[in-house]
Amino acid sequence: MVYNFTFNRKIRLDGEEMVQEKKAVYKCRCRNCATQPDSELALSHASINHLVATFNEKQRRQFIGFLASHLGHGGIKNLSKITGLSQKTVSRGKKEVLGSGISISNRIRIEGGGRHKVEKKKLIY
Ligand SMILES: [Zn+2]
Repeated sequence: MVYNFTFNRKIRLDGEEMVQEKKAVYKCRCRNCATQPDSELALSHASINHLVATFNEKQRRQFIGFLASHLGHGGIKNLSKITGLSQKTVSRGKKEVLGSGISISNRIRIEGGGRHKVEKKKLIY
């Protein structure tokens, strides 16, 4: 994956400079962005990636799923290429948006989702 890191500089009250890393923004790897980086389409791809970088996992999946549903045939593949999300993730987001899969809960992942706790991975001798 190709990321474009940006840094946010803040000056604290005591005059010391604080550098805070912003979230990574995925750089689109489609043919259009590679050959014509100043085109309108390339700018819209960059805008999508900048917007999506501010979202959490669930918001990102559902927003990209929403965009994919509006593109029609090939939308999932295209948005996967633009955003760097897997086609499976975009497809899941699309299903959540189109169906009744959107939960009102504040949970980002389903219960039990994500990595196992480190304690479970440790080997005991
Ligand atoms: Zn692109």
